[in-house]
Amino acid sequence: MTPIDNVLGRIDKPRQRQPGQYSGLCPAHADKGPSLSVRETPEGAVLLHCFAGCGAAEIVAAMGLELHDLFAPRDKPASTPRKIANLLTAGQALELLADETRLVAVALANYFHEVALSQQDVDRLLTAAGRIGLLRDQTRKTHA
Ligand SMILES: [Zn+2]
Repeated sequence: MTPIDNVLGRIDKPRQRQPGQYSGLCPAHADKGPSLSVRETPEGAVLLHCFAGCGAAEIVAAMGLELHDLFAPRDKPASTPRKIANLLTAGQALELLADETRLVAVALANYFHEVALSQQDVDRLLTAAGRIGLLRDQTRKTHA
């Protein structure tokens, strides 16, 4: 199940406003609204906003979900960054860089919407930073 389907299945009166944009009743307060805005990012992550002022962390908890449920599962297990960098072509390196950058952007967007980051999320961000650093090193080597 995708994060957006998971979220929409847990709120009352979900309604699509535009492609990737939904509204519904906020589960974290007695909502007659709909006050809850649900947006799906191009990466499949879900951003939540309650116009009555509920924090995203409260909304996620009221749905019986956790922060990582808002992110699309990443199917590849994390292997060591150095192994990845050594096997990459320039095109693959840029693709990975784009992926890691999107991950950081999604995490920041959630943080901005007051979703607390778990230790697992922080670890994943640190892995992203490490990978980007290794890509930089790899590029230096190639040009040397
Ligand atoms: Zn609310």
